[in-house]
Amino acid sequence: MRILVTGGMGYIGSHTCVQLIEAGMMPIIVDNLYNSKKSVLARIEMLTGVMPTFYEGDIRDRAFLDKVLAENNVESVIHFAGLKAVGESVEKPLEYYDNNVHGTLVLVEAMRAAEVNSLIFSSSATVYGDPASVPIMEDFPTSATNPYGRSKLMVENCLTDIHKAHPEMSITLLRYFNPVGSHKSGEMGEDPQGMPNNLMPFISQVAVGRRGYLPVFGDDYPTVDGTGVRDYIHVVDLADGHLAALNYKGKEAGLHIYNLGTGHGFSVLQMVDAFSEAAGVEVAYQVVPRRPGDIAECWADPTKAKTELYWEARRTIEDMTADTWRWQLNNPNGYPDV
Ligand code: NAD
Ligand code: UDP
Repeated sequence: MRILVTGGMGYIGSHTCVQLIEAGMMPIIVDNLYNSKKSVLARIEMLTGVMPTFYEGDIRDRAFLDKVLAENNVESVIHFAGLKAVGESVEKPLEYYDNNVHGTLVLVEAMRAAEVNSLIFSSSATVYGDPASVPIMEDFPTSATNPYGRSKLMVENCLTDIHKAHPEMSITLLRYFNPVGSHKSGEMGEDPQGMPNNLMPFISQVAVGRRGYLPVFGDDYPTVDGTGVRDYIHVVDLADGHLAALNYKGKEAGLHIYNLGTGHGFSVLQMVDAFSEAAGVEVAYQVVPRRPGDIAECWADPTKAKTELYWEARRTIEDMTADTWRWQLNNPNGYPDV
């Protein structure tokens, strides 16, 4: 089974490629290397013994996509490619709408022309906005508070309309909660360029000595200890969720929507403690004002994915922190440039 993986060199895409290969499928990777490095390919080969086909290029380039699809007998597309930093999206909305919304439309046009009918899209729990209650179910109302979130919601809406017009398509929207962790080998992980936006890579860079302390964005939320609570999910569990979606819904016409989360929330300070424990070093932190746009609590009700995809997250918070730490220690500066 040949799967086109857009953004397959990135954090979630690379882990998904490893799981696809382990399951006997063949990823064909398309990536413009905007937020990833070519050396990821060698790591995929190191971990699986298979060097996947890689096309360097942009999903907004229709001729390029047509060529990739013509050269490969693709059955399904997993679409990770896009920009993902909330703060940056406020500064550069045009780039976010162009990459995330326009990019997806070009991809679907190319799929239609090549008669590829199966698409899995990387959506996000951000489409739930500030939820009225937790845990969050798939039928909760959606909204967005920043251009990144709005771009994800726009794509969800576009894909819903496209599915109405072309009901023979299988379109799966996977709403990720907070992906963290690394491949257990320590050879593959998250490699943020510049200052990390997310909690886990920030904590791990403090632990390894690259940064002095973690800024904790507010300790006056109505949560267990005043800090924000999120549903952290191990990236390999998340990757496996894509395989489950492919296997159980990828060939079934329809619009399918699933939360991919664990169903459990951890606070910022609980994550700091868990990481300090795994790494055996104290992670320094300082409480600073709330980050604009942050919500108090967010975690998934993952029942639908369990019932319909036979998938659930298996890895624990100890796995998430220990695997991140192994990756950070082995690769203090991320992937090599070559
Ligand atoms: P990432 O930045 O590590 O990976 C995205 C990859 O897409 C990168 O390798 C980048 O070079 C590539 N890319 C970007 N624009 C492209 C374009 N126009 N053409 C070709 N390639 C392009 O991000 P990630 O964390 O792996 O996230 C993957 C997807 O999951 C994104 O769509 C993101 O919005 C979504 N998501 C991520 C998170 C998270 O916390 N990491 C949470 C929810 C949803
Ligand atoms: N957070 C923090 N310091 C940081 C980064 C994040 O205190 O340097 C907090 C943030 O306020 C939120 C949680 O950690 O409560 C998760 O934030 P992240 O950006 O990783 O994910 P998201 O906000 O998208 O859920």
